[in-house]
Amino acid sequence: MAIEVENIEAKEIQANLVRVSQQIDHLAQQYQRESGSVRLLAVSKTKPLSALEAAYHAGQRAFGENYVQEAVDKYHALTHLSDVEWHFIGPIQSNKSRLIAETMHWVHSIDREKIARRLSEQRPTELPPLNVCIQVNISGEDTKAGVTLSELNDMVALVAELPNLRLRGLMAIPAPQQSHEAQCAVYQPLAQAFVELSKSDSMIDTLSIGMSGDLPAAIQAGSTMVRVGTAIFGERDYSGRA
Ligand SMILES: *Cc1c(COP(=O)(O)O)cnc(C)c1O
Repeated sequence: MAIEVENIEAKEIQANLVRVSQQIDHLAQQYQRESGSVRLLAVSKTKPLSALEAAYHAGQRAFGENYVQEAVDKYHALTHLSDVEWHFIGPIQSNKSRLIAETMHWVHSIDREKIARRLSEQRPTELPPLNVCIQVNISGEDTKAGVTLSELNDMVALVAELPNLRLRGLMAIPAPQQSHEAQCAVYQPLAQAFVELSKSDSMIDTLSIGMSGDLPAAIQAGSTMVRVGTAIFGERDYSGRA
């Protein structure tokens, strides 16, 4: 029985991936974005290894995780899937930075100098530089992590000097808005900052915005990487989490 349940789950995940990918392609076309210019990051936080494996077997390679220990445990459990690209997208406490530096390929949530410095220092020299995005607080809420747009230039300059980080772009998690127009309005200043930044450095190619609930606005605004969890893996159950 357990095997049948897992197979049903795998089929659902694979169908969801096809649907989300088609939606992304459709939106890219609708908003005159180049085809293939929006990557899909599958956000697998709280989901079991079997869910990641199902997505992998459907062709998905980039996975996003939010919790350090969970991310590292999954990384170790799935080393046989050698071409998985691991993205850390959650808040980073400085005492956990080493685990991230030693395992992840990308970090989207660089939000302060101390974390950037530690990740660079702790990145093993035999690994390529860690790809990073600076997290920008675009909703102006105290509760949301990230640098403000006025602090962005200083953070860019800092990260550019760190030898084991490679700055790839910007990331944001906006507060929920009531309408597509409001979502677009919140993204607009960030999108403009990203365009300016990418002109100054050819390695900067990533605008990490868009989740299950706001893909049209994010893709219209210029997202190059959408981070989708629920629409691929279903609702999350946090009841078992401390
Ligand atoms: C959970 C999470 C996502 C995915 O959210 P969904 O609404 O499930 O698509 C994307 N980005 C971050 C930073 C997240 O924490």
